[in-house]
Amino acid sequence: MAFEGLSERLQKVFSSLRGKGKLSEDDVRQVMREVRMALLEADVNFDVVKDFVKQVRERALGSEVMDSLTPSQQVIKIVDDELTKLMGTEAVPLNKAPHIPTIIMMVGLQGAGKTTTAGKLAKYLMANDKARPLFIAADVYRPAAIEQLKTVGQQVGAPVYEEGTDKDPVEIVKNGLAKAAEDKNDYVIIDTAGRLEIDEKLMDELTRIKELAHPNEILFVADSMTGQVAAKVAAGFDEQLDITGVVLTKLDGDTRGGAALSIRSVTGKPIKFIGQGEKLDQLDVFHPDRMANRILG
Ligand code: GDP
Repeated sequence: MAFEGLSERLQKVFSSLRGKGKLSEDDVRQVMREVRMALLEADVNFDVVKDFVKQVRERALGSEVMDSLTPSQQVIKIVDDELTKLMGTEAVPLNKAPHIPTIIMMVGLQGAGKTTTAGKLAKYLMANDKARPLFIAADVYRPAAIEQLKTVGQQVGAPVYEEGTDKDPVEIVKNGLAKAAEDKNDYVIIDTAGRLEIDEKLMDELTRIKELAHPNEILFVADSMTGQVAAKVAAGFDEQLDITGVVLTKLDGDTRGGAALSIRSVTGKPIKFIGQGEKLDQLDVFHPDRMANRILG
């Protein structure tokens, strides 16, 4: 289960506070040491943990806790608040173009869930915005990637523009956009190539696609199972492409929390959706407060 270890650790820390009438500064410091350990063990980025603990400690040592009759509940509330803040406070909607089509470019490492998420997003937009999306298959390095996108397209009932694997992906995107204009598609979802790690050639190609397509959204798809590495990779993509948002996938797995809690702070970009399964309807809008509640258990 996602966040299991972190939730258990935090619950244990807080239960040690219960029953205490008043908290001493030492109690607060002890609690914060344990919260810090729990976050580091959940693979949250070191600087993020440091700032988080500082913020919570300052508030916890203030009058809202020290003068409270229910200090342990106050501490839990502060941790809840600050976790919510760490993940962005509010849900952030998808950008929409003033004129059709809204262009969404999916980027990320291979296996992160780009193609699956492209399908989920189309299904979501078709259900919620009566969208008529067109997919563009711009991953020309793996023939299987195009086949996979075509399967996804069939499953959601949306067309896929593809030109096989022999063409420059920038050219394919250009032709795909012309097709979308002709067919008056209101959304275009571009599925791009991934690699096992960031490399210059991939970034060049993505930059060229971006410059041609002027996407309204560049969504970085992050595998939450990779912990804080996901945040580091996201920062690398952001530096090159100025991403507009993040989709965190595989939150149905036993991810520890490092990705969810680091990525917003490290990149400054909002998590917009979460993937919670392999099926195409397993995509949800990301709500920081709900995620904080889930982490706190
Ligand atoms: P891509 O290489 O980035 O396009 O990644 P794919 O879309 O092919 O996904 C890689 C694998 O992750 C596939 O087996 C997907 O079914 C799986 N996957 C994607 N999103 C999720 C998710 O939210 N939960 C789970 N459990 N699996 C996912």
